[in-house]
Amino acid sequence: MSEVEQRLENFMDGLKKRNPGEPEFHQAVFEVAASLMPYIVANPTYEDMQILERMTEPDRTISFRVCWEDDEGNIRVNRGFRVQFNNAIGPYKGGCRFHPTVTQSVLKFLGFEQQFKNSLTGLPMGGGKGGANFNPKGKSDREVMRFCQSFMHELFRHIGPDTDVPAGDIGVGSREIGYMFGAYKQLTNRFEGVLTGKGLEFGGSLIRTEATGYGAVYFLQNMLDQKGVDMSGANVVLSGSGNVATHAAEKVNQLGGKVLTMSDSAGFIHDPDGISEEKVNWIKNLKNVRRGRISEYADHFTNASYHEGKRPWSVSCDFALPCATQNEIDISDANELIKNGVRGLAEGANMPTELDAMHAFQAAGVLFGPAKAANAGGVAVSGLEMSQNSARISWKEGELQDLLQNIMKGIHDSCHKYGEGKGKDGDTDYVAGANIAGFVKVADAMLAY
Ligand code: GLU
Repeated sequence: MSEVEQRLENFMDGLKKRNPGEPEFHQAVFEVAASLMPYIVANPTYEDMQILERMTEPDRTISFRVCWEDDEGNIRVNRGFRVQFNNAIGPYKGGCRFHPTVTQSVLKFLGFEQQFKNSLTGLPMGGGKGGANFNPKGKSDREVMRFCQSFMHELFRHIGPDTDVPAGDIGVGSREIGYMFGAYKQLTNRFEGVLTGKGLEFGGSLIRTEATGYGAVYFLQNMLDQKGVDMSGANVVLSGSGNVATHAAEKVNQLGGKVLTMSDSAGFIHDPDGISEEKVNWIKNLKNVRRGRISEYADHFTNASYHEGKRPWSVSCDFALPCATQNEIDISDANELIKNGVRGLAEGANMPTELDAMHAFQAAGVLFGPAKAANAGGVAVSGLEMSQNSARISWKEGELQDLLQNIMKGIHDSCHKYGEGKGKDGDTDYVAGANIAGFVKVADAMLAY
């Protein structure tokens, strides 16, 4: 075992002892630490100052009871969290997730990733994440409203426009942000940019909704440009059908690619004719207005099929865009994609690829855009929403589109700079590049004070 491998093993042993029963957090830390360890060993100040140990311990984790009344008058209890991970380069910033799988481990993995992602955007934002094990699916608007109000009843005392600025994530969209913003305003008597992803009528930013999905496709396009590959005419397999997935699908269409699949937690649809922009709009209405299931797509569009209980990775494609949730691509999915000729993948969701699956893609020479770089477009436009709120202005759509594209190009170039020559056959390793580029800025800020 090399010295670097030994240090990595010792570090992970310590981390697991300090954080028992948190597998998602261990997984996210291991992926980052594996890329960083050689860099840290070569730059001993980071090691002397225990920077990695400090960066893997959140500044604080707040956990609280959320009590709310359902439509039948029953009192229901959920657990809410806010993990304030690191504010070395700016106020804590990151979304809130409402989903039954939310645990402290899941939010620690997301908050840990967020500090590097936010650093990569080049904007002054620290990392945080929050949420609750509440399932908005199947709940009435009134129930969701009462839940959000109760959630904010505790959260409001921990956040602020210069302290911690939450936003959306899985299960938290513009409806939930609206209810939470209303509650914050009533509780504090302050109208300020304390949340991002707000409605356009009350301080939201244009293209925030589109930004994560568009950004992921821009990142893929930047990786392809670097290799001189064109996206037009390419077949793209995509998972998810929420905000990230629908906007990624929209952008793939705009760039001349063909989207073959989309999914939800129950199964996936395969449309060999391509999921055009018009069909994507139909899915947006299905999901956001009717709150239906993706299976309905196959009843509506000829030639489309629905595959119950399956993920879309067996469909042959040029590029894959996992935009649903963590660990949705395992090693057998990766082998299937590689066998069928996949050439590039950008992670729209957070940590959708298991570690051995990621290694398989890299060993096969597949261009691999990791989440903290590829899906940073959403939080980047959140950062721009904060700037607009502070300046009391609203930028035009064209300005924001340009800013988003430039930020994604900047992220690509930073990852390329730190990952160049580290991949297979001297290619760029975007995973190592993103981890090191994100780390350096936060670490140097921590060392400066
Ligand atoms: N939830 C998104 C993410 O994972 C966006 C966070 C934000 O806008 O603050 O980056």
